[in-house]
Amino acid sequence: MRFTHRTHDQRVHFGTGSAAAAVAEAAAALGSRRVFVIASAREIARTGEVLAGVPVAARWDEVVMHVPESLAVRARRAAADVGADLLLSIGGGSATGLAKAVALTSGIPIVAVPTTFAGSEATPVWGLTDDSGKTTGIDDRVLPRAIVYDAALTASLPVAACIASGLNALAHCVGSLWAPRADPVNRALATEGMTALDSGLRDIAERPDGVAGREQTLYATYLAGVAFASAGSGLHHKIAHVLGGAYNLPHASLHAALLPYVTAFNAAADPDADVRIGAALGAPDAVTGLAALYAAVGAPTALRDLGFAESGVDAAAAAVARVIPPGNPREATVDDLRALLLAACRGELKGRP
Ligand code: NAD
Repeated sequence: MRFTHRTHDQRVHFGTGSAAAAVAEAAAALGSRRVFVIASAREIARTGEVLAGVPVAARWDEVVMHVPESLAVRARRAAADVGADLLLSIGGGSATGLAKAVALTSGIPIVAVPTTFAGSEATPVWGLTDDSGKTTGIDDRVLPRAIVYDAALTASLPVAACIASGLNALAHCVGSLWAPRADPVNRALATEGMTALDSGLRDIAERPDGVAGREQTLYATYLAGVAFASAGSGLHHKIAHVLGGAYNLPHASLHAALLPYVTAFNAAADPDADVRIGAALGAPDAVTGLAALYAAVGAPTALRDLGFAESGVDAAAAAVARVIPPGNPREATVDDLRALLLAACRGELKGRP
């Protein structure tokens, strides 16, 4: 066994109903006196009590998916204008993403309070979009210094959104097994994440008002984010990046619908991972496990239902073929990718090709 694993330094507060106290503690630990809050108006209306113990200097409520560059420029200026010494993001990956965009150029630390299962808070990955598409990068300045996980803040997230977002986390877990820097540590985190997601998402689907399923899913979200941050972007994320950027598909649902097809493709060439994913999901192999979970929670399985038309398959396959990540367990030709995308578009979940 030979590997180099990097662990990121973050303080993780986890506890249902304890967000306000944990945010105050995290802000005090960083010596913050002028907090710049990034949260949409809807999120603030739902979670305003979280701010009770922090010195708020300003609030920013314009939050847009994939962080348009022009929005980042304005938010950076507003944070600078009030002399912000802490960015407090409350919301899904879009709110975290805007805080990261501000931190990227200012170095102001972030405390992230996630309200979805996107997992961005556990990664040093930033993303910005402009007319030419989405650019992503890795920078330690954007890694939140502290995360506050409180399952009560996800109670308002409807079941379908929970399922899509939780399967985005599952994509981080599965993808990290085949990503360029996959190693035994992030593999272990990813495997525990898959097991927790399997039980957490089933629980949310069965008992939407219960807290246990949301806690399990939130716990798994963190493991998934850490594994993904350590392992890097695999084939699944490369495909999602191409489709999300070019066709403006909803982020979480896109990841959810795509995952079984990429998993079937790669697992056919990696029996160990096939058994590992299957076992984590309580099944003999990965495809069987995913099919059972997707059926149980009513997950999306067809990209065409999300707005991706078959006419886009050829161009998308060609674009993905140019960005196949190193370490993928099998070669992926344009023909392979075309077949994969066509099946995903139509929702033909048949098992291994
Ligand atoms: P999002 O943040 O855009 O939220 C989706 C919708 O859910 C929004 O309308 C939001 O207002 C609403 N919402 C959020 N929390 C809610 C709650 N508790 N109750 C009710 N509604 C709620 O979506 P997302 O999937 O969380 O994040 C997607 C973004 O995050 C994308 O831009 C993606 O690229 C990015 N992302 C980045 C990373 C990374 O490592 N950098 C990882 C995952 C996702």
